[in-house]
Amino acid sequence: MSEMTIFLCLGSNLGDRHEVLAEGIAELERSGVTIEARSSVYETEPVGVEDQPWYLNQVVRGTTRLTPDELLKTCKRVEGLFGREPTGVRFGPRTLDIDILLYGDRVLTDDRLTIPHPRMHERRFVLVPLVEIAPRLADPRNGMDYTQMLERLDEGKKVTRSLPKNES
Ligand code: AMP
Repeated sequence: MSEMTIFLCLGSNLGDRHEVLAEGIAELERSGVTIEARSSVYETEPVGVEDQPWYLNQVVRGTTRLTPDELLKTCKRVEGLFGREPTGVRFGPRTLDIDILLYGDRVLTDDRLTIPHPRMHERRFVLVPLVEIAPRLADPRNGMDYTQMLERLDEGKKVTRSLPKNES
């Protein structure tokens, strides 16, 4: 497997959210993903189920030799280390959630995995951190760049930079 550039979005709305994101990234690095860039951490208003704590979200760019399936398994395993329990509530609270946004310019859909992530282009909590680290990146499905897609989205849910307490 040749090395692929990937983008992942991490989210946490339970526990010490800054710590969870940092530890989640460290664990990915121990699991076959080399992290090359990370966005700022953003505090974001929940989408879908609104009666839950606000999230911290962060997007990272990395390289990996893992296949898409192996990468998904790795993400699930790392989520599991943080005690993520399936609550049965889709879009409900979770200690750590890791979404695969992009895997090179591959476009794929099977019963477990859809890449690019099917909802990324409509979510400000994904696009704001993504364009911070990759302003000219284009969607492999239609060639449109994510900066343009973000500009087209309504203001909608709040997404603001969040610093860890000891840095604010
Ligand atoms: P959720 O728990 O809501 O984040 O959904 C996780 C499930 O979505 C996983 O078990 C995957 O099978 C599926 N899935 C489909 N596409 C993706 C993707 N691009 N990244 C992560 N999970 C995905």
